[in-house]
Amino acid sequence: MAVIESIAIRQEEMTRWRRDIHAHPELGFEEIRTAEIVAEKLRSFGLEVHCGVGKTGVVGVLRAGGTGRSIGLRADMDALPIVEANTFPHRSTREGRMHACGHDGHTTMLLGAAKYLAETRRFDGVVNFIFQPAEEGGGGARAMIADGLFERFACDAVFGMHNRPGLSLGKFAVRAGPMMAGGAFFDIRVAGKGAHGARPESSIDPVLVASHIAIALQSIVSRNVRPLDAAVVSVTKINGGDAYNVIPQTAQLSGTVRAFTREVMELIESGMRRVVKGTAEAFGATAEMDFRIVFAPTVNDAKEADFVAGVCSEVVGAENVNRNPSLIVASEDFSFMLEKVPGCYFNIGNGAGDGVCEVHNPGYDFNDDALALGASVFARIVETRLPKRI
Ligand SMILES: [Zn+2]
Ligand SMILES: [Zn+2]
Repeated sequence: MAVIESIAIRQEEMTRWRRDIHAHPELGFEEIRTAEIVAEKLRSFGLEVHCGVGKTGVVGVLRAGGTGRSIGLRADMDALPIVEANTFPHRSTREGRMHACGHDGHTTMLLGAAKYLAETRRFDGVVNFIFQPAEEGGGGARAMIADGLFERFACDAVFGMHNRPGLSLGKFAVRAGPMMAGGAFFDIRVAGKGAHGARPESSIDPVLVASHIAIALQSIVSRNVRPLDAAVVSVTKINGGDAYNVIPQTAQLSGTVRAFTREVMELIESGMRRVVKGTAEAFGATAEMDFRIVFAPTVNDAKEADFVAGVCSEVVGAENVNRNPSLIVASEDFSFMLEKVPGCYFNIGNGAGDGVCEVHNPGYDFNDDALALGASVFARIVETRLPKRI
C-alpha cells in the first residue's frame, strides 16, 4: 500500500487548490474566503456542510452505511501576520499576511481526503471534517468547542496532522502521550511607592522588586519541577519608569510558561503566585499576576497514537514512521480538542536537507509533494477505523 491511486492522480488539482489558498491568506477568524472555498468544495463533493461553527469554522459531514461509529479529522485554515519573502507566482497577494505555517496545505489535504471518501465511500460510519479557524493563538479550537462542536458532531476519536520541515518527505512522526507543550502567558504588576530618584528612603521601589521577582521566578523550574519534567519559565518583558530621576509607582513583568502536562502547568502557576506575592511583600510592595493558558499541552491517547502509526506504516512503510520523536516545545491548539475527545496529533514530513525553511519564516512554503500522501493517510485512517461491513 502506498499513496492511494485515485488521490495520487489529483496531485495537480490539489496543488492548484493549495496555491490559490496560499495566495489569499487570511488571519484567524477572518477566514471568510477560505471558509467559502472549503464549504463550496465540500458541497460539490456531496457532503452536508455547516458554516459558522466557532465564527469562521466549517464542518463537513459524510455518512456511509448504518453504524453510528464516528471520527473527526481536523485541519486549520488561518495564516500569520508575516510579510512573505517568496517571489514565486503563488506568493501572498495580501501585504503582511502569509501562510507561513502550512495551514493552506493542511486544508487542502483534508479536502482531498473528503473528495476521495465521498466518491468511494469504502467505510461504514460518520466522518466529520473539521476546518478550524484561528489556530495561531486566536483560540479557534476553543471557539468551535464552545459552539458545541462535539455535541453537534459526535466523534469517537479525532485526528490532526501538521507538516514538519526537517522531517523528510514521505516520513511521519507520532508519539504516545505528550507531543507538544502547553503554553501560558503571564503579566505581573508590581505596585510600590514613587519618589525622587535621590530619595530612595521615601520610596518602595517597584523596579527593584520586579528585578527580584524576575530572578526568583527562575527557581521554580530548577527547584520545584521534577528534573525529568521539561518546562520553561521565561520573563520576556520588564517595564517600569520614564525618567532618570524618578522612582516609579509601578513596574510590570510579562512572559511565557511552557510545560507538557496540565499538572506541571498548575504547579508552575501556583509557584509563581507564591513567589510573586512573597517577594513583593518582603520589600513592602504588592503584586498581582494574570496567568492565562493559551494552549493546553498536546497529549496523544496511547491507543490512538499506535493506531495512527500503524496506518502511516501501511502507507509509507514502518521504517518511515518515527514512533519516538523528540517533544516539541512549541504549542498547538488542537490540544483543546484532544482534552475533549481521545485522538492523536501527528507530523508529516515537509522535506529535509539543505535549505529547509522552518514554519513561521517569511521564506517558508508548504511542500505540494506531500498533498496526496497526507490526503491518503487521512483517508486510510477513516477506512481502517470504520471498516465497511460486507
Ligand atoms: Zn504556526
Ligand atoms: Zn501551524
